[in-house]
This record gives sequence, C-alpha cells and structure tokens, in this order.
Amino acid sequence: MKFAIVSRGDDRSNNIKQTMKQYLTEFDLTYDKEEPELVISIGGDGTFLEAFRRYVHRIETTAFIGVHTGHLGFYADWTPDEVERLVIEIAKTPFQIVEYPLLEVTIRLNSGEKATRILALNEATIKTAEGSVVFDVQIRGEHFETFRGDGLCISTPSGSTAYNKALGGGIIHPSLEAIQMTEIASINNRVFRTIGSPLILPKHHTCLLSPLHDEDKSFLIAIDHTTETYSNVKSIQCRVAKERVRFVRYRPFPFWNRVRDSFVSEIKLDD
Ligand code: NAP
Ligand code: MN
Repeated sequence: MKFAIVSRGDDRSNNIKQTMKQYLTEFDLTYDKEEPELVISIGGDGTFLEAFRRYVHRIETTAFIGVHTGHLGFYADWTPDEVERLVIEIAKTPFQIVEYPLLEVTIRLNSGEKATRILALNEATIKTAEGSVVFDVQIRGEHFETFRGDGLCISTPSGSTAYNKALGGGIIHPSLEAIQMTEIASINNRVFRTIGSPLILPKHHTCLLSPLHDEDKSFLIAIDHTTETYSNVKSIQCRVAKERVRFVRYRPFPFWNRVRDSFVSEIKLDD
C-alpha cells in the first residue's frame, strides 16, 4: 500500500512523521507523496484539514487517518503513545472505512468565467472586508430571505463542532447527509428580516446565495482553513457533495464520545 504523511511542522509532529515513515517502510509499505492510498495527518484538526485539501483531488482513492500531537481532535483521534499500535494496524489489518458527507461549494462570477467548484470538510463562510454582506438566499430554487449581516456559515456534519458550534449551530451526527447554514450577526430590524435560526438542509436541497451589491464588492470566502478573495461574484451555491471523505478506522470511537471528550468531560458515561 502507498501512503503519505502530512505533519503540522513542529518538532514533535515531525519526529512522529519520521518514526511512522520508517516503521511503515520496514513493513513494506511505500511512501508516495503523489498518489497515496492512505494519508496520515500528524498535528491537530487544522493539520487534517490541510491534508484533506492537499489530497482532495484523489478523494475517490485516498483514505485518511489523524494523530493528534496537541489536544484530542475530531479528525485527529490517535495519540502519539499509540503510534506503534497504529503502525501495526496499518501494516497488518485490512482497511475499515467510515465515510462522512462533504459540502460542495460552487462559485460563479458575473464575467461568465468557468465556475469554481470546491469541496469543504468543515465549512464555507462568506464575509466581506467592506461593511456587511447582502444576499438573496434561495433554497431549492425558491426565494427564502434576504440576508444582511456579517456573513453566513455553511457547514458539514463533521464541521458542525467547529465554527458552526461557536455560531450557535447544532451538532449534527455525520451519518446524516445534510448541511447546516448559520448566520454571522444578521441585522434584524423593520427593514431587514432573517430567520435567525440555523437551518439544516437535506441532500438535494441546494442553497444559492446571490449578492445584491455593486459588482466591484469583494467577498472573503473561507473554505475550511483557507480564505480567498473573490470579486464579481454572481452566486455561491452550496449543497451536500456527491463525494464523501473516507476515514480509516481500526477501533470504534463513536462521534458522541468525541463530542463528550472534547467539550464536556473526560469521564466515561458509564462510570
Ligand atoms: P484554528 O484557528 O486553529 O482552529 C480553531 C479551532 O477549531 C482549533 O482548536 C481547531 O482544532 C478546531 N477545529 C477544527 N476543525 C474542527 C472540527 N471539525 N470540530 C471541532 N473543532 C475543530 O484554525 P485551523 O486549525 O486551521 O482550523 C480551521 C477551522 O477553524 C475552520 O474550519 C473553522 O471551523 C474554525 N474556526 C472557528 C472559529 C470560531 O470558533 N469562532 C472561527 C474561525 C474558524 P486544532 O487546534 O486541533 O487545529
Ligand atoms: Mn489549528
């Protein structure tokens, strides 16, 4: 099997990378940065997001696993102490795969250039550096609301514990094929009115955001950990992607246990 390792770049993560690379090579696995079937992320959830971004073009053939060198991560859930066990599992155990839904974002420009299609593992947020954003929000082709405020966040179920949670969104189990739209400081008064609650959209319910601005207004569109500026935006379309991210699992670590251990306590529920 061909594998690659993405490290956060600190000494600890780099050392673990070297150890794993050496052990796995001794087990006759091949290090291949270009066409890995397994990508190991060493660092935090942010490192995992970067590993996903680097190999998203190979989403159909690549599976991911994460080791955390800081606090417990949602994507990085193996500890440095467990690295030897993990190496043996990778070398000896057949793949067990768990799949999670992704968000598909399609950005269209007024200039009619080819649309940009991006897959997000956590979320997309749309903001501007120039005042507030004003969007027509359409759901399934029907006008839903006109949003005015700091921005909107559209997240995946596995991203629901990240930015979405800080915005008051609900935590969605990743077995549900859905996306969630949360508001970032909407303006609500006698002129502007928005729903105010997070919306959870099922598969095939596409949401389309069309800016109601002068064409020269630019938007900051963040996909996971990276932000880019776009001018002349005609629309931003969000829906559940047909692609899914594949995680390698060698032991059960239920989502709700990860939520509990990250946000509530380290105490086992049955204690
Ligand atoms: P960062 O500033 O280090 O990330 C913020 C925190 O979010 C970190 O503690 C990160 O964990 C954690 N995180 C990432 N994905 C998560 C997930 N799916 N569930 C729970 N926590 C998660 O930047 P980053 O590491 O590059 O991560 C980018 C993400 O930061 C974005 O996708 C967005 O979700 C999040 N973010 C959050 C806020 C907020 O909460 N107000 C604002 C902007 C962005 P690690 O420390 O393990 O990396
Ligand atoms: Mn981080």
